[in-house]
Amino acid sequence: MSKFLTGKTALITGSTSGIGLAYAKALAGEGANIVINGFGDADAIEKERQGLESLSGAKALYSGHDLTKVDQIEAMMKEAANAFGGVDILINNAGMQHVAPVEEFPLDKWDLIIALNLNAAFHTTRLAVPYMKEKKWGRIIQTASAHSLVASPYKSAYVTAKHGLAGFTKTVALEVATFGVTANCISPGYVWTPLVENQIPDTMKARNMTREQVMNDVLLAGQPTKEFVTAEQVAATALYLCSDAAAQVTGANLSIDGGWTAQ
Ligand code: NAD
Repeated sequence: MSKFLTGKTALITGSTSGIGLAYAKALAGEGANIVINGFGDADAIEKERQGLESLSGAKALYSGHDLTKVDQIEAMMKEAANAFGGVDILINNAGMQHVAPVEEFPLDKWDLIIALNLNAAFHTTRLAVPYMKEKKWGRIIQTASAHSLVASPYKSAYVTAKHGLAGFTKTVALEVATFGVTANCISPGYVWTPLVENQIPDTMKARNMTREQVMNDVLLAGQPTKEFVTAEQVAATALYLCSDAAAQVTGANLSIDGGWTAQ
């Protein structure tokens, strides 16, 4: 059976883990060349890279640059262009979280979160758009969050960055609308990934709660289905956005949050 992304190249930031890796697998499954990015154990990443090539029958490249730094973002985009000519599908997914009251929020964490969760998406997008416009086809997908639509306490930097990302995406969608290029946000509620697991200790401290209380009374409290979203469900939405069926879906913010933001 023919795979609908054969001949396309997808670059997914923060794809050595969690949701990003699920996107990479889903798009490789449809035949795309993949550029993965992120940190982690070199052997484990190489194994994932080879696995993606087996899935796609195409190429997979690892670019391990730190996306909080503009020169490294430029180097990653250059590597992708050298290997594949350019990026047809850009998924801005790398992100980090820090949980603390605003008056105690560490200054370095604020800067890092804004750099990674917001500024990096601007830099990758500005570098990807010329090729997409020339090709008259492109897909820009952001992993935003329910926190691009609503807030939670103690997550000031993250909520600020994600709201900014949502506005940025709408602006880009308008600018590229006549070029066959779409730009959309996918906004998950809580997905069970290392990012969520790692914030449990800080949330326990900030709210003086046990691990179980954080899971049930904080994380899943706002999610009416009382279930975590899976990374595969998020990736399936990205596949839809890459399809011809979604050619007129642009500037949208698609919630996958078990009803969280319906409240
Ligand atoms: P994760 O921690 O599993 O993955 C984050 C990825 O980003 C990893 O590959 C990591 O190596 C990479 N990364 C971290 N710092 C980086 C840097 N400086 N440069 C390049 N790569 C870097 O997290 P996840 O839960 O899969 O989150 C992915 C995205 O989904 C994030 O943008 C996050 O805000 C968003 N999101 C997650 C949830 C959730 O509940 N997990 C919900 C909504 C939105």
